[in-house]
Amino acid sequence: MTALLKAEGLVRRYAMRRGLLGRSVEVRAVAGVSLTVERGRTLGLVGESGCGKSTTGRLVLGLEAPDAGTVAFQGQPMSAPGTVAWRSLRARMQMVFQDPLGALDRRLPIGVQVREPFDIHGIGTAADRPARAIEALRAVGLRPDQAARYPHELSGGQRQRAVLARALATEPELLVCDEPISALDVSIQAQVMNLLVDQQERLGLGILFISHDLRAVRQVSHRVAVMYLGTIVEEGEPDAVLHEPAHPYAQALVSAIPHPGRRGGRIVLQGDPPNPADRPGGCAFHPRCPIATALCAQEAPLLKPRAVDGRLVACHVAHGDALPGAGEVRRAA
Ligand code: SF4
Repeated sequence: MTALLKAEGLVRRYAMRRGLLGRSVEVRAVAGVSLTVERGRTLGLVGESGCGKSTTGRLVLGLEAPDAGTVAFQGQPMSAPGTVAWRSLRARMQMVFQDPLGALDRRLPIGVQVREPFDIHGIGTAADRPARAIEALRAVGLRPDQAARYPHELSGGQRQRAVLARALATEPELLVCDEPISALDVSIQAQVMNLLVDQQERLGLGILFISHDLRAVRQVSHRVAVMYLGTIVEEGEPDAVLHEPAHPYAQALVSAIPHPGRRGGRIVLQGDPPNPADRPGGCAFHPRCPIATALCAQEAPLLKPRAVDGRLVACHVAHGDALPGAGEVRRAA
C-alpha cells in the first residue's frame, strides 16, 4: 500500500556566520533523512534539542524546501511551497507546535480561530462555519461557550486543545506534532496525548510526533526513529528501540529514563554537545561514543537493517563491522 508520507534523503543547509565579522559557514541541520508515516500510525522522532527534528517536520510539510531529497504525500511529489497545489494540500496536512499561546492569535476569540481553516480552504458555507467550529471544539473536549474566550482566558491544556481543534478542523490525513506537550503541566500532558490517540482512531490520522520526551513517544508511537546531528541513527518498534536500543547514542538517551526492567545504569556521554557547524567526519557521533573504533572516524555508517532482528541502525559495531573500541578515537582527537 502507498505510504501516506514518504521522505527520502532530505538535506537542509543553512549559512551561519561565526562572530560579528566572521566568515559564513554551512550548517547541515538535516543531513540525509528518510522516513515514512503510514495511515493511522504514529512515527515518533526523538533526539536532543538542535538535532534537526523540527527542521525535518517543516520539510515534510513543505514549510521549507529541502536542498536535496524528496517528499511524497500519498505517492505524489510534494508541490513547491506557496503554490496553489501546495496550499490545497495543506488542508490535508497540519502542524501542531510546542507553544499553544504562540500558535494562537491573542486578539481573536478561539471560535473565530478554529473557524479560520474553513474560510481559508472554502469548506462549507459561510452560514454553517460557526457551527462547524463549535463541533471541532467539542471534538477536543472544549465547551461551546469557550468559543467566545480569548487565548489568555484558557488554561495551557485548553489552549493546546484549541490548537488541535484548529489543526483537525479540516480532517487532515497527516498531523506533524512538534513538542506538543512540552509546554504543558504533567497533569495535562496525558490528556492531550489521549486526545491525539482518540483523534487518530477517529480520523485514521498519520502522525509524526516530534519530541525529546521518550516516555511520551513510547506512549503514542507505533515506530520510533532516533535522530542525532541531522541523521536518523536507529529506527524500529518502540518496545525494542526504547527498551533495548542498539545504537550507542540511543542507549545513552534511554539510560536517562528510569525503567524497572532495564539492565545497567545511566550512560553519561563525554565530550561537547553536537554542533551542526562542526560536524565530525565518519560517524558524527564518534567524538562522544564510548565504544568508537578507528573505523568510526573514517567511515559514516549507513542506516540499514541489523541481521539479527531487522532493526534499522547506523553503527559499525551494532552491525558487527567493527569490534567495540574504548574511546581511542576520542583520546586521539
Ligand atoms: Fe559509535 Fe562507531 Fe557506532 Fe558511531 S559507528 S555509534 S562511533 S561505534
